[in-house]
Amino acid sequence: MSNLVKLGEKPRIVLDSFFEPMYETGPDALPVFKMFLGGEWVSSNIGGTFNVYSPIDGSLIAKVAKATVKDAENAIDSAYENKSKIRAIPAIDRLEIFAKARELLLKYENDFKNIIVTEMSKTLEGAEGEVNGVAERLRLTMEETRKIYGEYLPGDWVGDTVGKIALVIREPKGVIGAIGSFNYPFFIPAAKIIPALLAGNAVVAKPSSDTPITLLMFGRILEAAGIPKGAINIIPGSGREVGGTIVKSEKINMISFTGNTNTGKQISTVAVLKDLHLELGGKAPAIVLDDSDLDLAAKKCVEGSLKHAGQRCDAISRILVQENIGETFVKKVLEEVEKWKMGDPRDPETKVGPLINEQALKKVDELVKDAINKGATLLKGGKYEGLYYEPTVLNNVPLEARIAWEETFGPVITIIRVKNLDEALEISNRSEYGLDAAVFTNSFYNVWKAAKALQDGEITINDAPAHGVGNFPFGGIKDSGLGREGLGYSIDEVTSIKTIIFNLEPADLGKKRIPHF
Ligand code: NDP
Repeated sequence: MSNLVKLGEKPRIVLDSFFEPMYETGPDALPVFKMFLGGEWVSSNIGGTFNVYSPIDGSLIAKVAKATVKDAENAIDSAYENKSKIRAIPAIDRLEIFAKARELLLKYENDFKNIIVTEMSKTLEGAEGEVNGVAERLRLTMEETRKIYGEYLPGDWVGDTVGKIALVIREPKGVIGAIGSFNYPFFIPAAKIIPALLAGNAVVAKPSSDTPITLLMFGRILEAAGIPKGAINIIPGSGREVGGTIVKSEKINMISFTGNTNTGKQISTVAVLKDLHLELGGKAPAIVLDDSDLDLAAKKCVEGSLKHAGQRCDAISRILVQENIGETFVKKVLEEVEKWKMGDPRDPETKVGPLINEQALKKVDELVKDAINKGATLLKGGKYEGLYYEPTVLNNVPLEARIAWEETFGPVITIIRVKNLDEALEISNRSEYGLDAAVFTNSFYNVWKAAKALQDGEITINDAPAHGVGNFPFGGIKDSGLGREGLGYSIDEVTSIKTIIFNLEPADLGKKRIPHF
């Protein structure tokens, strides 16, 4: 990656001149990023900013305009006033804008990868995966929006609609509020914004305050690709103030939110009479049975637990292993963990980087210590330096431990012993979450029994869960959320159905059979 600041040097932001309209350079040589409001790059209305630090070593890397409630209201007004503009663009021309956006994204892909590594501390491989994921999502959503056709319904199958026909069409919902989490700073908001705009909606987006820069850069790409002014607004700022203003605005028709379950619950109490798409927390179990390929299970369980330092909603967050193979499985897990080197994410050898912030680190450490106090055996890790939490293996974790139930969001492998599949299913389903589950077995009957019994939105057989680009739909039940994310499913979420009924009776093309229904 050409302009990534070298390993050993202080992390800092280096961007191509294409991104210059987005920021000014402050007296301390730090970039001060603006927000994208009404098609212009502007400062906060009272000039406030907030700091962005790199988890690599805690360096201050940028200041970002901190939107106020007034800025948020202006952004919402701008989207509301301009929603008809994006809707009026013929679909074929909207596709042209996004083809151009994809071209630009690929041209500046290294800038995006570098910023993801610098602001979120994803590994080089992880950052590359995320940027490629957005480029692919863009390409595939362009194909998918071509399928917004609707339906023709004949009326003469039912007595009271004889003599009528209906067209069922899909229309953009209007203004979509998109609020994203820190852990996929680019992919998650992009996966909301791309289908929303392509389907003809206007958007007000708020990035996570930990990782706001990548999304602002996407705003610059969309601007240069020719998106109409005001159709996309990106306003960084406080979750409570800016997020809260978006969520309760009557001018916003739908909230698409990814984040913590508690935040999601709070949003659902405020977003009255709005469509909600909530992608919330998870506590994915991996059930490992004695008829499984143990080498495969150990490799995938370690990968599923440690990828992106465990900061994934679809991370394997507890392993329920059948007790008669427990010892063999644990040995294999320990061998696999050796392959997961922790370190500076700019080092191509690194597979586990730091956690996002101090609060996240403290939570992980608290959960690990609580498990040990309640009787779990610490086989590896359990220590940290800066924001770097060592890949950790906890064996024989008792069900009384908080880590058996609470989302970990850190590089911890939590191994719980179970007698059999029935007990594994009972413990899996006792969780308040219902996002993902994995099952490792070579028995067709166990697969089917588990797949039918597990209360989760996505069940993965013989692999770690991974939501990926969205070819397979995903989303939660219970406390893991509402709605489904995926190529076509996301388009369904941002469009609503309108039924247009034609009465053919005047042309003597049919008569009602139930006249007074
Ligand atoms: P948070 O809930 O802390 O934050 C998510 C976003 O919500 C941020 O932009 C935040 O702003 C904003 N926000 C905070 N409070 C409010 C509010 N009252 N009203 C509106 N917006 C608000 O989540 P994290 O960023 O910590 O993300 C991690 C969580 O996301 C995990 O629980 C993870 O499982 C979940 N997640 C779920 C996925 C899924 O597909 N189901 C995918 C990825 C993550 P600010 O940053 O300014 O506080």
